[in-house]
Amino acid sequence: MALIVQKFGGTSVGSIERIKHVATLVAKEKEKGNDVIVVVSAMSGVTSQMVDYANQVSPLLNEEALAEYDCVISSGEQITSGLLALQLQSLGFKSRSFLGWQVGIKTDKTHSKSKISDIDKKVFNKHLEEGFIPVVAGFQGVTDCNRISTMGRGGSDTSAVAIAAALKAERCDIYTDVKGVFSADPRIVPKARKYDKIGYNEAIEMTSLGAKVLQTRSVEMAIKHGVTVQVLSSFENEPGTLLVKDEEIMEKKLVTAVAHSKYEARVTLKNVNNTPGVVARIFKPLGAAGINLDIIIQNISYNGSQANVTFTVNEADLDRAVTVLNDEKEKGTFAAEEIIGTKDVAKVSIIGIGMQDSSGVAQKMFETMAENNINILAITTSEIKVSILI
Ligand code: ADP
Ligand code: ASP
Ligand code: MG
Repeated sequence: MALIVQKFGGTSVGSIERIKHVATLVAKEKEKGNDVIVVVSAMSGVTSQMVDYANQVSPLLNEEALAEYDCVISSGEQITSGLLALQLQSLGFKSRSFLGWQVGIKTDKTHSKSKISDIDKKVFNKHLEEGFIPVVAGFQGVTDCNRISTMGRGGSDTSAVAIAAALKAERCDIYTDVKGVFSADPRIVPKARKYDKIGYNEAIEMTSLGAKVLQTRSVEMAIKHGVTVQVLSSFENEPGTLLVKDEEIMEKKLVTAVAHSKYEARVTLKNVNNTPGVVARIFKPLGAAGINLDIIIQNISYNGSQANVTFTVNEADLDRAVTVLNDEKEKGTFAAEEIIGTKDVAKVSIIGIGMQDSSGVAQKMFETMAENNINILAITTSEIKVSILI
């Protein structure tokens, strides 16, 4: 008997009708003679609604506020886990819902983007032995201060892979609303191709550059613990995409995927006094506030005494980043004429492991932008990707 972890995303549990359908998919796996642990997201749109409520009440500038934010935004998963367990009971199965803390999903204290540090296997093992189907609220855990934490948007994927890793599951099936991992977001690019297999490292690049089909951390966790992950549709009965080691991909494409992220924001510090250590002094408080930076550009003036420093952050962190920097500027940590934030930017990236052995791929991307009259604000590259800010 194998253990299978099944994760169902927001659209898959988006209505009572969909929850009833999901229960049939769980039943099918159970009737094969497997043990099943189910992880659910909130109904689609619910988490975003909760985020919006929290934002209307507070600017969420400190850890105490972010802990309450986590309490609010984790609530959608409580509803779906209970409803699915109820439906499984109606079908004659032994099933029970669990919130993150009830199954000992321990995380660090970085509220709103917590990392899982440990999972208590005892509760799972006991219930599996008694024949239960545990239905776990994804996305949430508990800190060692007994506060509810969440793992960042899309975090149910990571809950599922972490549970699969801890309990050494044979497979972690991530059910979603598309047939698998495509060469671009199939909702935007209708002719995007579905892959039967995708390399772990390409998947990491794709997801970290905006392809939200999986949370990046779930892929990192799958690599680290050797979890077999499959992405497939809960709407269609078809094989999905299997994540495999890069060596197992026979055909090394120049470009495997195009990813985009609309949720980027740009911060520019105008005319910073360019003295040794100034950039470190600018970025240290941002790091301390848990704000991740992405693209960083510094341009110096002709005599080198002043510089404009520009960087990008996630749109959700923009207000906090500007507030933190203004506070530091007031304190005299650095001197700058002005700090300007804008959300009017997006990032487009091409990804492919074949790119590392080839030249001219970036050039083709830049020409395509030029032909379409799109101005490039910044460029970053690595061996297997090119990203542009537009
Ligand atoms: P879930 O609620 O099931 O977790 P998400 O909305 O988080 O679903 O992720 C699935 C979505 O990811 C798809 O509906 C699709 O629009 C988007 N997506 C973006 N890039 C890709 C890609 N390369 N392949 C597949 N889906 C993608
Ligand atoms: N419900 C959470 C979100 O919308 C977690 C998830 O869906 O994975 O981000
Ligand atoms: Mg998701």
